[in-house]
Amino acid sequence: MQLIFLGAPGAGKGTQAKIFLERTGLVQISTGEILRNAVAAGTELGKKAKEFMDKGELVPDAVVIGIIEQRIREPDCAKGFILDGFPRTIEQAQALDSILAKLGLALDHVVNFEVPEEELVRRLLGRAAEEGRSDDNPDSIRKRLEVFHEKTKPLIDYYEKKGKLRHVSGVGSTTEIAERVKAVVGV
Ligand code: ADP
Repeated sequence: MQLIFLGAPGAGKGTQAKIFLERTGLVQISTGEILRNAVAAGTELGKKAKEFMDKGELVPDAVVIGIIEQRIREPDCAKGFILDGFPRTIEQAQALDSILAKLGLALDHVVNFEVPEEELVRRLLGRAAEEGRSDDNPDSIRKRLEVFHEKTKPLIDYYEKKGKLRHVSGVGSTTEIAERVKAVVGV
């Protein structure tokens, strides 16, 4: 099974992806985590990515598309995967379509987590206080939400037209939300 968890920063995609994979054994592919690991390891990729991430901007499409293609080709992904934080632009979505086609794979569901804007801001500011992620500061949060509206929201329409979109309210307890995901995905 191939899934995408879609939603604004702070919508809870990562948390739900972890719960989902514990239940199903699928692999979670989080571009945010891959990039943060590269930053922590001080690799060339990490140095390049950090500038964009700290400002709340997207890392260039060519960079993340390359990372995803490599990751999806790794053997553990054969059991199915959840993409969390990718795609984030139409160009990334089109690249994903061609990567999947090359590998003879299809998307099963795109789960769209819906959370009101005020709640997103509250969560991101809370996470900033708790985890100290360097991109969870007010300027970067504002920018990430702007980028989401401009670049990522069009994906809702993109996947709706393909008949893949499943809506889930991202408000409530993590257990409640996990139940909603289970209901739309069917496992
Ligand atoms: P959030 O959803 O809270 O912004 P992520 O961990 O998904 O957190 O992403 C953190 C940052 O990593 C983004 O602001 C962006 O700079 C970079 N990033 C993650 N995924 C992508 C992607 N698919 N394309 C471009 N940049 C990305």
